Amino acid sequence: MEKVDLIVRADYLITMEGDLSVINDGAVAVTGSTITDVGTFSDISGRYTSEKIIEGKKKVVFPGLINTHTHAAMVYFRGLADDLPLQEWLEKHIWPNEMKWLSSEFVNDAVELACLEMLKAGVTTYADMYFYEDTAARKLEKIGMRGVLGSGVIDFPWKDIAQSADDYFRHAEDLINNWKDSELITPCIAPHATFTCGPDNYKRAKEMADKHNVPLHTHLAETQFEVAECKKRYGKTPVEYLDDIGFLSERLFAAHCVWLTGKEIEILAEKKVGVSHCIESNLKLASGIAPLPKLLNAGVKVAFGTDGAASNNDLNILGEMSTAAKVHKAVSMDATIADSKTMLLMATKNGAEILGLGEKTGSIKPGKKADLIIAGLDQPHLTPIYDIYSHITYCMRPSDIETVMVNGKIVIDKGQPATLDEAGVIAKARAWREKIQEQ
Ligand SMILES: [Zn+2]
Repeated sequence: MEKVDLIVRADYLITMEGDLSVINDGAVAVTGSTITDVGTFSDISGRYTSEKIIEGKKKVVFPGLINTHTHAAMVYFRGLADDLPLQEWLEKHIWPNEMKWLSSEFVNDAVELACLEMLKAGVTTYADMYFYEDTAARKLEKIGMRGVLGSGVIDFPWKDIAQSADDYFRHAEDLINNWKDSELITPCIAPHATFTCGPDNYKRAKEMADKHNVPLHTHLAETQFEVAECKKRYGKTPVEYLDDIGFLSERLFAAHCVWLTGKEIEILAEKKVGVSHCIESNLKLASGIAPLPKLLNAGVKVAFGTDGAASNNDLNILGEMSTAAKVHKAVSMDATIADSKTMLLMATKNGAEILGLGEKTGSIKPGKKADLIIAGLDQPHLTPIYDIYSHITYCMRPSDIETVMVNGKIVIDKGQPATLDEAGVIAKARAWREKIQEQ
């Protein structure tokens, strides 16, 4: 019998591997940060011993959820300006507040709240686009959460962050050099969007990403305004334009992709660009509804993103799954579209793959890192159970997530954060709100 550090047992085990079948009375053996083996409990307990066994009666174990597009620190602007169209919301409310408040200290504090919210909702990895990502990286490593942190690039100076493009790229390269060997942090370069970033900066971002072998993150085809602006400036729609300047590749994951022509969908598939579907943010800002069924049919890999909490207003991937499943059925007038297995696949394995982390996370498989979550099923809204995938997509709430493990370490233990002081994090957020409100 081989000794392992931990065995996790549950009534239902969903690995997101193979034919996606559910293992009843399943177990996962974990050694250090890595998954050693997966099977039924009788198989696993016949092969391995462990001093620590997490028992999962009336529970389900599945891979940690992945949020492929957010601006984590914007949790401090949650609910600051709602019920407005994107350009007005961005230019009159969000940018002036960021101009006033954004600092390393702001990011340091705000990221704690974002991580707490995401971890408690079963999100084990998130992909960010913001500034002061080096500060965020230090925080994530302390908390024990996985992050793909994109250092923002725009054409114009921004506070004391950058006076020129050189400054943005210096921050990005510093981030890469500081974190390229980290277990939890993947550094990334994030040119903001086609209306804030010109071709030179897009090309420079691609060159730097190729040189260091890191991912690229951008906003793409989010609004009709963006498409019209892109046509005006460059005579092309956003995807065709970025393809034209050589920016598109498997390295890129692009948020939104709402306004696409048939030809652009083909280009995204051909260039293997990953898409982050941010349906709740797109609905709330009235940006439109991305053509998810067409993207999936064309073979584009699509995952979920929440976008920042100022436009969503939460960081809840379970909510995105439920919303997407229903909206796309209604829009297509086809109830078979966006089925629950596809929704969980997008929220886990597809998410890892578009971030370039497919070898590391996104499913429960021997050799991958132990990023997994345990949800309790002993609740009225989860009773009775005929199909566990259906329950996760349509009924499960963040409060059902009991235990969360990232890289083999328990970060949420029976609903309680193990690496964050919840009361302290919330008190700090309220103190910032007092300051922001006063202005
Ligand atoms: Zn965004």
